[in-house]
Amino acid sequence: MTFSIHGLAVSRGVAIGRAVLVASSRMDVAHYFIAAQDVDTEISRVRAGRDAVIDEIHRLQESVSNMGPKEAPQELAALLDVHLMLLQDEELISGVKHWISDRLYNAEWALTTQLEIIARQFDEMEDAYLRERKADLEQIVERVLRAMKGTASPIAALTPRAERKSPQQDLLLDDTVDVPLVLVAHDLSPADMLQFKQSLFAGFITDVGGKTSHTAIVARSMDIPAVVGARTCSQLVRQDDWVIIDGDAGVVIVDPSSIILAEYGFKQRQGELERGRLQRLLHTPAVTMDGEKVQLLANIEMPEDAAVALKAGALGVGLFRSEFLFMGRQGRLPDEEEQFQAYKKAVEGMHGLPVTIRTVDVGADKPLDETLRDDAHLNPALGLRAIRWSLADPAMFLTQLRAILRAAAFGQVRLLVPMLAHAIEIRQTLAHIEQARAMLDHKGVAFGPVKLGAMIEIPAAALSLKLFLKHFDFLSIGTNDLIQYTLAIDRADESVAHLYDPLHPAVLRLVADTITECNAQGKDVSVCGEMAGDIGLTKLLLGLGLRSFSMHPAQILAVKQEILRSDASRLQPWAIRVLEAEDPALAMAAT
Ligand code: PEP
Ligand code: MG
Repeated sequence: MTFSIHGLAVSRGVAIGRAVLVASSRMDVAHYFIAAQDVDTEISRVRAGRDAVIDEIHRLQESVSNMGPKEAPQELAALLDVHLMLLQDEELISGVKHWISDRLYNAEWALTTQLEIIARQFDEMEDAYLRERKADLEQIVERVLRAMKGTASPIAALTPRAERKSPQQDLLLDDTVDVPLVLVAHDLSPADMLQFKQSLFAGFITDVGGKTSHTAIVARSMDIPAVVGARTCSQLVRQDDWVIIDGDAGVVIVDPSSIILAEYGFKQRQGELERGRLQRLLHTPAVTMDGEKVQLLANIEMPEDAAVALKAGALGVGLFRSEFLFMGRQGRLPDEEEQFQAYKKAVEGMHGLPVTIRTVDVGADKPLDETLRDDAHLNPALGLRAIRWSLADPAMFLTQLRAILRAAAFGQVRLLVPMLAHAIEIRQTLAHIEQARAMLDHKGVAFGPVKLGAMIEIPAAALSLKLFLKHFDFLSIGTNDLIQYTLAIDRADESVAHLYDPLHPAVLRLVADTITECNAQGKDVSVCGEMAGDIGLTKLLLGLGLRSFSMHPAQILAVKQEILRSDASRLQPWAIRVLEAEDPALAMAAT
């Protein structure tokens, strides 16, 4: 039966595919397709893993039977019996075989997929005792996965997701492996998202998350349709259901009828055509109708993204979120050499164009590692994140600064510092940069010059521009956090997402004043938050005097199109009127 679920639209476009439900805790399990000739090997891998666990349990049973009731209570023996029974469960075994032979899932993926299906059945059981057996099932699957470690089959070379055929109505009957898959999860951390960057998924849906949560940001950078904040979606959708993700409207349609499917198939093709049309603007300079030049830069997460940025026509990197090099490593941080190589790769990848490397911004919804998620503090978004974290660990900070300064010997580097608010933080930051230079000098290691920039993302910073302009060469407005902190709403929390308003007069005032002040003093200023890539706001930002926008590469051409259609001189008085209106959104709509 068709039904729809409403969430938040975070990444545009339409995806149609089969649902792959993944529990957050199983995100680190490899997901890939195997070649058809490897099916038997893959099934044997699961069998070998399962047999190893069965042997382990038999051995345990033997030692338990040799113990007295004090050392080994009766419940333990009963528990081992349950584990054995679950391991031999026909539904588990036949399900795993199905995913491997019919869908060519790798063994680990097949096993966790079947686990999700059975776990859900346990959730629905009336009997509390039986319901609790779900934990046992999870435990034994965990043990089988462990036993299978190090025996993976090769990944099959299947068609990359972007090149797969556009789904047609008849796909509903098509059970081949080469159909798009969409990921459905309760939550995805930004680090999980990175794992999926080169993945086979054509779109994704999460129950939680706000519009500018970092998970949503990475989804946009992957340029795949996504909906977050879909509440109970991961409970309502079943493994393998057909789903449509409408990333423009924030709607998920489950089990669509053929009419709906045809309608969305059409919309999907329209989107592809529109993208194709935009490609014509790739080499057109971003200049307004009245001759104002605009700089379009890219936001990137990994050094490899530099190639994507260039391909999208970016004239540099306006924001390299370096924290993605630090995440998902169980707390082991990259050393100076590893960081240097990563920054150098990004710098060389941009072939002489400027690369703005932001010092690490972990904390809040970007924990270093899932196991290190900051639950200890009541309000991590207001806690030890970004520059506060760096200044609290000078050795780590100096390591990063040295790596960035060394990379600057290979191209144009701009060093950007996140979340500054206090004069003391600015002084300490500058002192650390000086110290990093002195350390390299002392060791005779080559390094290059860098322009220094600060992010304006705390209202206090936007209201202390004199201080910032005195110490920095350029400013970059981080509107994602600026909105979060100005309006006191958690950007990652879907329950307050409706209050996340880039057009709130207070937000616009802070953005406008920062642009005006920088322009008056001849200092570079850009916007690198999500506002920069929102084509609904391009004209307003141009009218407020902005001439440098940094965004996901996928947005660049659409924003360029807006710029080419704009007359900056006429936009200025209009933008002032919008800025001064009681309800700027209404004022914009009225003109
Ligand atoms: C911002 O806050 O607008 C920004 C660009 O930084 P991040 O989204 O990484 O916090
Ligand atoms: Mg920020």
